[in-house]
Amino acid sequence: MKTRLVKADSAAVNEAASLLREGQVVAFPTETVYGLGADGLNGDAVARIFAVKNRPADNPLILHIASRRDLDALVTRIPPAAEAAMVEFWPGPLTLVMEKTDAVPPIVTAGLPTVAVRMPSHPVARRLIAVAGRPLAAPSANRSGRPSPTRAGDVLDDMDGRIPLILDGGSCAVGVESTVLDVTGPTPRILRPGGVTREMLWRTLGPVDEAPSVMRPLDEGEAAPSPGMRHRHYAPRVPLTIVEGGAPALFLRYDQAETRGKTPVLLCTAQTARDAGSRRCVVMGDRDDADTIAESLFSALRELDRVGADIAFAEAVEPAGVGLAVMNRLLRAAQFRVEGRNTR
Ligand code: AMP
Ligand code: MG
Repeated sequence: MKTRLVKADSAAVNEAASLLREGQVVAFPTETVYGLGADGLNGDAVARIFAVKNRPADNPLILHIASRRDLDALVTRIPPAAEAAMVEFWPGPLTLVMEKTDAVPPIVTAGLPTVAVRMPSHPVARRLIAVAGRPLAAPSANRSGRPSPTRAGDVLDDMDGRIPLILDGGSCAVGVESTVLDVTGPTPRILRPGGVTREMLWRTLGPVDEAPSVMRPLDEGEAAPSPGMRHRHYAPRVPLTIVEGGAPALFLRYDQAETRGKTPVLLCTAQTARDAGSRRCVVMGDRDDADTIAESLFSALRELDRVGADIAFAEAVEPAGVGLAVMNRLLRAAQFRVEGRNTR
């Protein structure tokens, strides 16, 4: 199959919508990361997403809608916390988990009785969903296990030959995936941190719980509240370790690796890179502005594989605000290898 990457003008969006109605899979920009979309009410179309991504079948997908009215057909009940969250954060990077109706094919939810729904704010995503006229199931447009794509070129690197069309809408502003919030229980629960921060949720909803898997690996046999947390994720090919203790600790590990004959690289903030001398760095934003780190994190993880290094060390980020989502992704990219503290 030939993959075309085209600018997301209205002709291209219309063409993408036609392909979606035929049951095909197309990639499109959202404000978080690029999505790999298919008609979310067509089980065969959704099966194609799992095939092209090589995604494990037990990892459910998020349904993307363009208007609040689209929600009614998908969920049996809208809890009060969901109402409040939608008013405040939709459209935007917040996904809500609610009880599903029979209209949602089991393949979308990996057999779960609940469905995850989000209304993105990106104008191309909104328009595409509206023209297609159905909810779009859309995970990140990377091959399973790889960093999520935040630019159309990153999608092409992973999906060339696998899908007919990629809509190019430039780079994604948020840069990490949506926050997944389960609103089916008495207290809302963060299953995955993301663009809408824990602090923002507390301000609107009051007390909010957090799944333990947000910042640590699941124990063997432990049930995953959000099945996606079980899988290997976001990993560059070069082995990555997070180093706590700031620039001095990073520089020490880099220099030790070099002494052992390795070719190291640092994944670090602009401030650390400025003090790094001749050490090779891939910059992931400004230490004092977590939004800039979120925005560049995934492209920086991909860049790590292009610099010819055989070992990488990442700077730890303050897990506050969107920094929590950054550390959640970074921990998985490093397969929970952290030096300088106990992760459990
Ligand atoms: P992705 O599509 O790669 O952004 O991942 C979607 C995330 O949403 C994964 O972490 C899933 O485990 C989570 N998710 C989707 N549907 C549900 C659901 N019904 N219950 C809990 N988590 C879900
Ligand atoms: Mg993903």
